[in-house]
This record gives sequence, structure tokens and C-alpha cells, in this order.
Amino acid sequence: MADSLLKFMLGDGNVRGVAVRLRESWQEMLRRRRHEAGVQELLGEMSAASVLLAGSLKFDGTLVLQIQGDGPLRLAVAECQPDFGLRATATARVDDDAEVPSQPADFAQLTNSRGAGRCVITLDPRQPGQQPYQGIVALNDAEGHALRDLSAVLRQYLDQSEQIPSWLMLAADGHSACGLLVQRMPDAGGAAAGGPERADEDFSRAVHLASTLQRDELLSLEPEELLRRLFWEEQARVFTPAQPRFHCTCSKQRVAQMLRMLGRDEVESVLAERGEVDVTCEFCGAGYAFDLVDAARLFRDDIDQPPGSTRTQ
Ligand SMILES: [Zn+2]
Repeated sequence: MADSLLKFMLGDGNVRGVAVRLRESWQEMLRRRRHEAGVQELLGEMSAASVLLAGSLKFDGTLVLQIQGDGPLRLAVAECQPDFGLRATATARVDDDAEVPSQPADFAQLTNSRGAGRCVITLDPRQPGQQPYQGIVALNDAEGHALRDLSAVLRQYLDQSEQIPSWLMLAADGHSACGLLVQRMPDAGGAAAGGPERADEDFSRAVHLASTLQRDELLSLEPEELLRRLFWEEQARVFTPAQPRFHCTCSKQRVAQMLRMLGRDEVESVLAERGEVDVTCEFCGAGYAFDLVDAARLFRDDIDQPPGSTRTQ
């Protein structure tokens, strides 16, 4: 079955949600870049989460979900475009004694072993000239205890930054990366049917039902079937499913922009040493080579660069 993202509403419309199941896109990511098993599961969960968040926020731009780790994992990134094209990558900390484990690993150990790991969510608008919005949460709870998984971190993010009571669950293995998000509709705009108390009740009932979901069910069931099983009494209304897919936004032009930002001296020193500059996209593994001629063009074109074109790959 193809990848699928399914938005739904429950009962009188006081509760909304998104279910996502990534198979082909997740397989494609695994084919293109191998990661240690300890990171792979987290990357899968992050991929599913980036699609869930992009599906729940009304936003026209790129959603970037980052875990900035202070354990063996230095950085993990998942990006989702408005059309649910997605990519993800992770880098381990090299200058550290602790290696990324080769077995599925404990989230807190991997990302937050000293308690200073962070989760950063950036909404980068497609419209040129608009400022990106960034929300940051710690990987600890209010008492300073390390949160045990990514779902708990994102729940905290949605409560704090978006101020929407939310429940979510994520799971990934070597075949699929899946997630389920359930949210109480905001009161603003008079959306709550039957008043705020009724909306609270509807939401807690939905969370109660969603909490019965087992990891293997989340990983194996198609979103429609999942919703039928969990919410069969709640008159779930589903919207037309969308199809997430693997899509890397790298290009020779973007790599060129990155090299321009790196500066002429840096690029020329690599050229002098190796004869060409090779850049490999850390998301999809595509290689970009710049020889002397390319490099000369890179900086000659400096003068007629369109304004605002300073994004990196
Ligand atoms: Zn790429």
C-alpha cells in the first residue's frame, strides 16, 4: 500500500486528528542513507512526526523538525514540504566517547544524556520575504526530568508553543514509520460545539480511546482501518487522503549558494588541494562536483545574484 496521510474529525467536530503511514518514502530514505540502528528508529519517528505536524498546522512552507542532541546524536533533521514531500537525516557526534548504539536505543540516552538536548521546530514560509517562525522546547519535563520519547517532547511542544491540547503516538521500524495525532479544536472562532466543557470531554474521550493503541497496530494498520478500530463509536469523518513521498530539495544551484556562503578562499583552498570540490547531500546521497571552471563561474556570478537567494541546500 502507498504512503498515506489521513486527516479526520470526531463527533461534533470538537476533536481533529491526523494519521500517517510512511512505507515507500521511509524505505527510500533507508535505501539512500544508512544510519546506525540506534538512530534509525528515531529518524523514522521524526519523519512521521514532521508529516503529522505539517498536516495539522495550516501553513504554506517547509516544516523542519530538529533534535539537537547532547548525547551520541549530534543532530537529526526531518523536513516536510507543503505537498508532503519529505526528507530526513542524522549526524552522530564524532568527538565523543559515546558512540551511537547499533541497536534501537533509548531516546534520552541518545539525545539528552547531559540534559541539554533541544527540539527545534521551524516553519519556513514559501512566500519570499516572510520571516521563519521557530519554536524550541527542551527534552526535559517541567521538573527537569528527561522525557522518554519523541512523542512526549512533541506533546510538550504542542501544549506550550501552539497551546493546543494534543495527544500523539509515533512508531518506526525497518518497514514503516507511522504516527497518530489527536487534538482538541481551539475555542477561538466558536468552533467548539456544545461549549468548551463539551469539547474537553470529547477530547478526553478521544485520548482515552487512542491510548489503547498498541505499537504493532500503529505500525501495521492502514490509517482508515486504524481509525475504524479506535473510534468506531465516534462517527469519524475523514478527508481525502494525501500521499507523502520522499523528496529531496537539493540541487546544484543550492549547493553553489552554499559554497558562495563558504567563501572564495575556502573553496579555492579545496580546489588547490584536490582539483575539485565534492559535496554530497546528506539527505539523499546525491553528489555534486565543482571543478575549476564551475568554481570560477560561482564567484564571477556574484555580481548578478538575485537578492534573497542565500538559502543553503
Ligand atoms: Zn539531496
